Amino acid sequence: MQNLIQEQAWPPAPVYETVRHPMRRRSLSVAAVDYLTPHTIRITLTGPDLTDFTSASADDHVKVFLPGADGVEVRRDYTPRRYSQEEATLVLDFVNHQAGPAVTWARAARVGAPLDIGGPKGSRVIAGTVAQWLLVGDETALPAIARRVEELPAPVTVTTVVAVPGPEDEQNFATAASHDAHWVHRPMAQADQAQALVAALGEVSIAPGTFVWVGAEAHVARAVRQYLLKERCVPARWMKVAGYWIMGQENAAVRDMADF
Ligand SMILES: Cc1cc2nc3c(=O)[nH]c(=O)nc-3n(C[C@H](O)[C@H](O)[C@H](O)COP(=O)(O)OP(=O)(O)OC[C@H]3O[C@@H](n4cnc5c(N)ncnc54)[C@H](O)[C@@H]3O)c2cc1C
Repeated sequence: MQNLIQEQAWPPAPVYETVRHPMRRRSLSVAAVDYLTPHTIRITLTGPDLTDFTSASADDHVKVFLPGADGVEVRRDYTPRRYSQEEATLVLDFVNHQAGPAVTWARAARVGAPLDIGGPKGSRVIAGTVAQWLLVGDETALPAIARRVEELPAPVTVTTVVAVPGPEDEQNFATAASHDAHWVHRPMAQADQAQALVAALGEVSIAPGTFVWVGAEAHVARAVRQYLLKERCVPARWMKVAGYWIMGQENAAVRDMADF
């Protein structure tokens, strides 16, 4: 009953619109490789195929096409962290985790190396303005979180709660919004455990009308969603929660947490 009363304090949820983009495969090449942090390999791609590239939402993703272990092509999802049509550049941030075709490719990438990408196929965009945001995630969601924070205008307020291995993996974002950053440190081997993120969320106030976005390892995303629903009475319609990867499984994601 108490939860129901608290939920009723929330305004009607924002409406999502889907923007479709023409699907095409783009053949690009590496323009720069930088270790942004010890666990983030930033790859800047370039090529004439980017002149009509578009990405309408901070949590869009492209498919990168890579050679798998047996030579057969594999696909992985990455967030367009930043792009410029004028300069024909696209930035992708690869988490430097233990092993997989994508991270192996990123570690070996050198200027001039080719990379094909597809998409984004579509963007889910919130219609109208949301005045308060809470963004929660791990290293894989950091590109989407960073981009969202950078794109938000004043006087929007945004709180971020992000799990990374250590202080040297934290990032700074330039934004016109009012930004309150919380960092949680845990080893990458514990990236499927939610306790540290949930404990940090306990220190954060969540006023009715705050849109909550979560992207993390799927077990963590599920635990955070349950905590927000049950302990903080955030209505499901005010949340977008995705599992960006699953510990122990390759190329696995959960788009809708209600199914996981
Ligand atoms: C919409 C969306 C956007 C995404 N954006 C980004 C992004 O911008 N940057 C980014 O780095 N990732 C992003 N991801 C996650 C990325 O797609 C996965 O981490 C992917 O599995 C990495 O591919 P891989 O070939 O390196 O490893 P895989 O071959 O897929 O997996 C090999 C092994 O590594 C494990 N593993 C995979 N990812 C991680 C990780 N991050 N930490 C520890 N172990 C891991 C797997 O569980 C598996 O055991 C995104 C995912 C989605 C769904």
